[in-house]
Parts: sequence; structure tokens; C-alpha cells
Amino acid sequence: MAPPHDDSKLETADESLSASNRPISTVLIIIAMQTEALPLVNKFQLSQAVDSVFPKGVPWVRYHGTYKDLNINIMWPGKDAVLGVDSVGTVSSSLLTYASVQTLQPDLIINAGTAGGFKAKGACIGDVFLVSEVAFHDRRIPIPVFDLYGVGLRQTCSTPNILKDLNLKVGKLSTGDSLDMCPQDESSIFANDATVKDMEGAAVAYVADLLKVPAVFIKAVTDVVDGDKPTTEEFLENLAAVAAALEQAVAQVIDYINGKCIAEL
Ligand code: SAH
Repeated sequence: MAPPHDDSKLETADESLSASNRPISTVLIIIAMQTEALPLVNKFQLSQAVDSVFPKGVPWVRYHGTYKDLNINIMWPGKDAVLGVDSVGTVSSSLLTYASVQTLQPDLIINAGTAGGFKAKGACIGDVFLVSEVAFHDRRIPIPVFDLYGVGLRQTCSTPNILKDLNLKVGKLSTGDSLDMCPQDESSIFANDATVKDMEGAAVAYVADLLKVPAVFIKAVTDVVDGDKPTTEEFLENLAAVAAALEQAVAQVIDYINGKCIAEL
């Protein structure tokens, strides 16, 4: 006897097939810092959403609007309610990504931001990287298999055509919750073969993977980690100029994806 049809499973397969083969419509851009977000908000003439669809009292800010055929949403985790600084890091970015995906149902996530770069791996100030894979460098769990869970290695959405057609560098990203780098982090970053390090990427990738939304990561280098200058000084010195380079690169990617489906990237 033939096995009974499981129509629900068939529909799911069809749906996921059509999702990667229909033009991208809604884009969710996750950005940790206001200085990184504002150049893009201006570029796409986005407006700040007033009637928040998110829980009352959270500092998350949504900028939205249409650009060409795209419905663009930039989500910024906002300022810490007590300390008044940007809510950077993995905890806030993963919560923000989860809530934004649930609410906005994006076709694509772009995590854009600044990062430290390693000159030994070819990174220079102002370089913009399209990330090929992400992992964590500060989740040390030295028990078999949990060690791999801690590292949380994930491939990003494959975008060979973006790489071919746009002038972006490609490299691996390592994420941790500190701006500085202790010796243990340094050896994990080395083991991760990373060219850039940030404080959000792998957390955004975790949520994107969980909710099955394709994600790309665009990271612009504000400081050279293996250089001579102290990271904080160099970061602050270059932030505004590098945010402008980031804006240009994200705008190029947005123009590129307009009218295309995920499978064409
Ligand atoms: N002193 C800064 C702190 C920002 S934290 C301030 O004025 O607010 C740094 C932010 O930039 C994070 O969102 C992180 O993702 C990114 N970043 C830039 N350089 C980094 C580095 N060397 N290591 C880790 N994250 C870095």
C-alpha cells in the first residue's frame, strides 16, 4: 500500500522553495550603534516608527520606509535605560533580532556594524567585509561537544554574486561580549581563523538560524586589533568615517538585492 500523503510537509517544502525564488521584499537591518545606523536612516529617508509594535518600555528603535521595491527596516537596540549608552553586545542583539523577525517576518537579515580587524589577516581601517562564517570566541566550555556548541560556528547565507559584483572583502567574523581581547579570546579568535571581531554577529546568526531567515553580515573596520594603537582610542577616532564607509557598502548591497531573490545573491 502506498504511504499516505503528508500534505502539510509538502506545503512546507513548497513554501521554503518559493521563499528563496521570489524577489526579496522585506529587509531587516540590525545595527548596534546609533552612529552606525543614522547615515543609513538618512540615505534611505527612513522614519522612526512611533507606535511601537514591541513591548512597552523597551528601548528598541525601528526606522522604516520603502526604497525601490524594498520594505526596509533598520532596528537599533537603543540606549540602555539606566546608563544611556548604546545597548551593544550579544544579549540585546539576539533579543532584538528575535522580536524583529517575529514581528516583521523579513525575507533577509543584514547585520551591519563596525568591527576590529586583524592586519595579519589583511584588514585595514575602513575596509568593509562581507562575512563568510561566524563563531563565538568567549564561550569556553571544555567538555566534548559542548566545546563546539560554545564556538557556535555558522555559515552565513551564500552570496557568490554579491561577492563577484561588489567590491567587498571577504573574511570570517568572531564575536564576543568584550571590546578588548584577553589571551584566551585571542587564541579562540585565531582558532576561528577570523579576520574581523565584533560584539553581535554570531548572536544574530544564532537567531537567524533558529528562525530560518537568511542572514548576511557587513562589517567595517574601525580599529586594528593587532596594531599599535589602543583599541578604544582608535575605535572612537575612526567611528564616524567608518560609519560612512559602512553606509556606502550597505547601500550598494541594498541596490544589488532590489528585485532579486535569495537564490540570485
Ligand atoms: N566605546 C564605544 C563602545 C562601543 S562597543 C562607544 O563609544 O560607545 C563597540 C561596538 O563596535 C560593538 O557594537 C562592536 O560590535 C563593534 N566593534 C568595533 N571594534 C571592535 C573590536 N575591536 N572588538 C569588538 N567589537 C568591536
